[in-house]
Amino acid sequence: MDPKEILKKAQDEKYAIGSFNFSTAEILKAIVAAAKETNSPAIVSTSQKEADFVGIREAAALVEAWRQATKLPLILNLDHGKDQEEIRKAIAAGYNAIHFDGSSFDYKENVRQTNKVVKYIREVEKTFDCSILVEGELGYLRGSSAINDHVLEIKPEDLTSPEQALDFVEKTGIDSLAVVIGNAHGIFTKSEEKLDLERLSQIKEAVGDRVFLVLHGGSGIPENDVRKAIESGIVKVNVNTELRIAYKESIEKELKDKPKETTPYKILSPALDAVKKVVKEKMEVLGCGGKSIN
Ligand SMILES: [Zn+2]
Repeated sequence: MDPKEILKKAQDEKYAIGSFNFSTAEILKAIVAAAKETNSPAIVSTSQKEADFVGIREAAALVEAWRQATKLPLILNLDHGKDQEEIRKAIAAGYNAIHFDGSSFDYKENVRQTNKVVKYIREVEKTFDCSILVEGELGYLRGSSAINDHVLEIKPEDLTSPEQALDFVEKTGIDSLAVVIGNAHGIFTKSEEKLDLERLSQIKEAVGDRVFLVLHGGSGIPENDVRKAIESGIVKVNVNTELRIAYKESIEKELKDKPKETTPYKILSPALDAVKKVVKEKMEVLGCGGKSIN
């Protein structure tokens, strides 16, 4: 399975692949069940901290077991990797996609660090004859994967600039680019995230098909905006917060409704179903159902 081919097919046919985060075995199981039921390719992701909790080798082993059991194209992605050491560990464990988030650096340093990651990964690909996706990030993406009141103020200078995007892609050699176009991490209860679709079209025009465009913060963006963003070139949409909320609310309800229940699989099974439902709804919006190429 070549992760670049999976995204290339999505780019050509104008749908998007969901990147869903997991930090426990049953959340991963729920994502895989949704992919299986809709026959979708899927990206399953862990942040550094999520990987620390599951165990980075254990996360990779679980995903490999699911690949074998389902024959689904499952890409395992390190989400917001911030240091070279963690990236090396993820690659050694068997991750086949790396998101390097150098957005906290100034532009020049982001280019330098991202290019260093790309060079390292191209070396690994050559040595082991494998294919690994590398994603870079440009622009200032606010928020965290949690429930917030208002959308944090997104300033015009936070948004990805089309000219800089092209320069960044050329100088770093990345496969995918995470853009900031009004999206933010987390969900917002008192206001709505608004995507600057005009900005996205300008970025797409500048970079063309040479890079896969990625939308982070896919939780809480109105469905129609997500669909329009896919029409304008987005091929990967990251979703985390909505899965976390579904998981937490289900467990809360189970513990409240059945205070004497102590069997973990009984407490957690409804949470698995709740997460699966959210993932299936997202896959419907992304249009990736039936696109599993195996
Ligand atoms: Zn993100």
